[in-house]
Amino acid sequence: MDSMIYLDNAATTKTAPEVVDAMIPYFGELYGNPSSIYEIAGKSKEAVDKGRSQIADVLGVSPEEIYFTAGGSESDNWAIIAAFESCKSRGNHIITTKIEHHAVLHTCEYLERERGAKVTYLDVDEKGMVDPKELERAITPETILISVMYANNEIGTIEPIQDIGKIAKEHEILFHTDAVQAFCQVSIDVAACNIDMLSSSGHKINGPKGIGFLYIRRGVKIHSLIHGGAQERKRRAGTENVPAIVGYGVAASRAWNSMESRTKKEVQLRDYMIDRILREIPYCRLNGDRVRRLPNNVNISFQFVEGESLLIMLDMEGIAASSGSACTSGSLDPSHVLLAIGLTHETAHGSLRMTLGEDTTKEDIDITVEKIKAIVKRLRSMSPLYEDFMKKQH
Ligand SMILES: *Cc1c(COP(=O)(O)O)cnc(C)c1O
Repeated sequence: MDSMIYLDNAATTKTAPEVVDAMIPYFGELYGNPSSIYEIAGKSKEAVDKGRSQIADVLGVSPEEIYFTAGGSESDNWAIIAAFESCKSRGNHIITTKIEHHAVLHTCEYLERERGAKVTYLDVDEKGMVDPKELERAITPETILISVMYANNEIGTIEPIQDIGKIAKEHEILFHTDAVQAFCQVSIDVAACNIDMLSSSGHKINGPKGIGFLYIRRGVKIHSLIHGGAQERKRRAGTENVPAIVGYGVAASRAWNSMESRTKKEVQLRDYMIDRILREIPYCRLNGDRVRRLPNNVNISFQFVEGESLLIMLDMEGIAASSGSACTSGSLDPSHVLLAIGLTHETAHGSLRMTLGEDTTKEDIDITVEKIKAIVKRLRSMSPLYEDFMKKQH
């Protein structure tokens, strides 16, 4: 595993050693239930409070506005379902986009199918960008929720969240954003962007899996997701996952403290990788916006190549990447995001996502580019389509 080159940080990240160290006592001797009143329980409560404050500080909000969940998917489900239920008397229309994570898309589809919601799935342009004007035109008197992701997990495009938040506020519509990929990668100003609810996940920022939060702005009244005890101010019952909350707090603090230097380095490596691939490999294209892009995202389509074959051959070389997104690989449906930016099924199938992490080095990038060059060449040499294409060129 040591020699592995890991370029799938949008799927998950390595849990940082100091995160693991901070969590360990809470698996062992510090096992108290934060809701109890004796000393050991007090230690757990303090730990939960600290984790919550660390996260609130990063987001620049109050700790009471942070609600821990079991991850990004739960946060997305909660925000959308609860907003719909809570605003039912005012309307049933939700506006989202075609490029959301499945945790948002499938939740909206569920509400349409089972609960009488009407959902507008906005198109995006060829870079994956939502048009705020089009969003505004989609608003009806029935619109109760807008959910647009902060940054896309497949192609890295950063959405015009401030413009969208302004529109949501003007029309007094709740605004939720899935910021799982953006949190601690770009600075987020929830106040300036008029964000009412924001989803995040621990394991995307070198923290533990199975923990996330939903930020709910003070004053936003949405129903509880899980009923039971009084945890999370009665909005999400269940004994807190104390070790995970501790780890998440540490992960958020360290990711925030290192954000400037880390993302600066990542942007350099990202652009270096994109430039090398586009320059050295013919018939390929970059997906997503060149500039309004997550610091760590590279997504390229190679013509006349099967992304899955490329992925398997890279794996044999000890390089971990993704074709489309981890959730869809394994199925043969092309990525809904790549289709939404206008790629054909064929081109979408020849796509590779590489997402850099805090440990990625220039050497990793150089090795990977060389391997991709060789593999693409080999795969093309076996492709009848490529052969035909080359014949026509001459
Ligand atoms: C990973 C991811 C999720 C899901 O988060 P989990 O914690 O794995 O449930 C949701 N949205 C986006 C954009 C993601 O990248």
